[in-house]
Amino acid sequence: MTSRIVIIGGGQAGGWASKTLRDQGFDGEICVVAEEEWDFYERPPLSKASLLEPDATLPRLFTEEAQQTLNLSWYRPLRAEQIDREAKTIALSNGERLSYNMLLLATGGRARLPGEAWAKHPQVFTLRHWQDAQRLKRRLSESKKLAIIGGGWIGLEIAASARKSGVAVTLFEQQSALCMRSVSGEVSQQLEKIHREQGVDIRTGCGALELEDNKGLPVIHCDGKRETFDAVVVGIGVDLNLELARDAGLRTGRGIVVDAQGRTSDPFIFAAGDVAQHHHHGLCIQSWAFAQNQAVATAKAMLNPDAPGYDDAPWLWSDQYQHNIQILGIPQPGSNTIVREESLFFSLDANGRLTQLVAFNDARTVKLAKRWMAAGRDLSDVPLADPTFSLMSLR
Ligand code: NAP
Repeated sequence: MTSRIVIIGGGQAGGWASKTLRDQGFDGEICVVAEEEWDFYERPPLSKASLLEPDATLPRLFTEEAQQTLNLSWYRPLRAEQIDREAKTIALSNGERLSYNMLLLATGGRARLPGEAWAKHPQVFTLRHWQDAQRLKRRLSESKKLAIIGGGWIGLEIAASARKSGVAVTLFEQQSALCMRSVSGEVSQQLEKIHREQGVDIRTGCGALELEDNKGLPVIHCDGKRETFDAVVVGIGVDLNLELARDAGLRTGRGIVVDAQGRTSDPFIFAAGDVAQHHHHGLCIQSWAFAQNQAVATAKAMLNPDAPGYDDAPWLWSDQYQHNIQILGIPQPGSNTIVREESLFFSLDANGRLTQLVAFNDARTVKLAKRWMAAGRDLSDVPLADPTFSLMSLR
């Protein structure tokens, strides 16, 4: 019987795995190694409520009482530095060694920066942790002019929060369109329209950016222009924390290679959340839903090898201004996008199968589309763009 499970990572995946292990009746020891001092918390509010609400508190994943009942042994704030797979031990940054019967890697990632000058500048921010949100919130309250580097999900959510607080926003994106790698060109255009209407100055296709090496207000050079801002937020993606897995000789690709049950190339080691490469899609789906549900499926499989694997369609959501945007599926090259009233964007492959749906304020259609996707329904003859056609008739 497994008596000690060690979880490396105190984020959402680590949290849901801990809870699931207990919910499934595991009564051995659960050790959680975490770099942060906080209890498990949710990240989606960090770019929204945590920045906007004056009395925002840590967006806890579980209530304090619920977390107490998990009866966890915390090792924090500490880093796991090495895994010895033969001895089944982990070396911690305080010199301690922790043995495990089973290990879960939920190490997440760290925000990228364009270079050294950006990392050193006191008014350049990234947003990944609770402390980052608190620092940024303080600075935003004293700012009139914000630069955002990167037109991905972090950039757009922070742009929306900053505009709500009356801060002028200039957004630099090196690609020719916003969120270009995760949605179709039609959706990118819609996102751009929404943000321009709110007064965001969007510079897609921007050239290389340079930050002046000073300690005062940040000054950015781009496309021959020199501009000064009160603060700069960088949201140009994440470097996944794969070093532990790589050094231990586990199979890695874009992330840690796992099967549908979250098992790595070592049968005693599992991986969950951002670092786990999707077993079918071959990429890391860095979303809230994946961090939670793939971790739940993995924790079940750690206790029961016959547990069903993770099988959800990729899904993420983003709140920007008055829009709840839901993205189901991932873009496939060659798909054709059909637009319905600037709110539903259906991407179909050559066989008429739905590869992605992006819905603005329409959760009902997303629910329906999940079923079409699971059934591989041919939608080529359906008048999806016609607003008089009832999509619900396809239930
Ligand atoms: P992201 O969504 O990958 O977007 C980063 C954008 O910045 C990309 O378009 C990228 O272009 C661009 N970029 C890269 N280097 C640049 C540079 N030097 N100058 C200007 N633009 C540059 O990453 P993110 O917004 O930082 O978010 C981090 C992760 O958290 C992502 O995986 C994201 O999906 C996830 N997240 C999810 C949500 C949600 O589910 N609602 C919210 C926030 C974050 P290239 O593609 O060419 O690199």
